Amino acid sequence: MRHLRKDDLSNMSKFWSDIVKGLDPYVPGEQANDASIIKLNTNENPYAPSPKVIESIRDSLGDQLRLYPDPQALVLRETIAEREGVRASNVFIGNGSDEVLAHAFRALFKVGETVFFPDITYSFYPTYCKLFDLNYERVALTTDFEIDLELYPSRSGGIIFPNPNAPTGIQKDRPALERFLQSRPDTIVVIDEAYVEFGAQTSSSLTTVFPNLLVTRSFSKSYSLAGLRIGYAIGHEDLIEGLYRVKDSFNSYPVDRLALVGAEAAIRDQSYLAQIVEKIVSTRSWVSNELAKLNFNVLPSSANFLFVRHSSVEAENIVKKLRQQNILVRHFPNPDRIRGFLRISIGTADDMKILVDRLRTILAE
Ligand SMILES: *Cc1c(COP(=O)(O)O)cnc(C)c1O
Repeated sequence: MRHLRKDDLSNMSKFWSDIVKGLDPYVPGEQANDASIIKLNTNENPYAPSPKVIESIRDSLGDQLRLYPDPQALVLRETIAEREGVRASNVFIGNGSDEVLAHAFRALFKVGETVFFPDITYSFYPTYCKLFDLNYERVALTTDFEIDLELYPSRSGGIIFPNPNAPTGIQKDRPALERFLQSRPDTIVVIDEAYVEFGAQTSSSLTTVFPNLLVTRSFSKSYSLAGLRIGYAIGHEDLIEGLYRVKDSFNSYPVDRLALVGAEAAIRDQSYLAQIVEKIVSTRSWVSNELAKLNFNVLPSSANFLFVRHSSVEAENIVKKLRQQNILVRHFPNPDRIRGFLRISIGTADDMKILVDRLRTILAE
């Protein structure tokens, strides 16, 4: 289905609410079904999920599917809480971290004030602002594409950024974030840690010190469970209760029984997580070197993707030629400052060797 854009005014239904007319829906990266395609465009994990995840989902495929899942997801919350050194009342579970983020925008950000996020970041943030009628302002990254924390006001309707940032992959260290939070006790700060397991420092323990901090996490990238749709947040119990108030005004059962047991098994199998993350991190450093040799400027990534710009060949051109070779990568035409960049997810070592070979050929043409 094609999403209508704002300039398709003539196609708008007269029955739409004003909010719907003003929406700017997020457009996810292409999902290809063809197995011959090397898919490096949506930051999925190239490795299978833990076998223990599959096993526990299989064990739950039975009569109990006639029953609703636990609306509070208590067992999974306790499992996560134990790992994070917090209580179950500090953990919220949702249908992917996108849904957790949506509830955070609704529950915690203030209508009538301004929400701040980086000018180059996850493009779902402005989408949610429009959905929830929030004013927002984009804050410029530094010339090195780093988040410039100094530029965020001390009081606002809310602040959100990913750490590491997407699509740059660059992380902020914990001491910098701690100083930032110390100086902004009256503003809600959401740190989106969708990629944190790939080598960034987590801020989850700071949630016990700063009652205005919410950290969100995903099972989609590091745990290789994008298809299961599950994510969570960690924060002061008052923030978590706010999220549950929104969730329980929207959908009592957003996370199904299979996702609950699968995610629990994933959390319990930390050695498997460490194994696949370590493979991706080592492939990431190999590809970074190879791309640098091919005259790409490679931003320092703490995530499972690289954000790269070639010194002379246009990004759109490279994307087109890779596509002809059955390799998908992501290109963002906006803002202008990143038009020259490609975002390349880290696949298996074999996938990435093919990518580098094809790039070498394309650039030699
Ligand atoms: C992928 C991603 C998410 C969403 O993750 P899901 O858990 O799959 O909904 C959130 N934030 C950022 C920055 C992401 O890249």
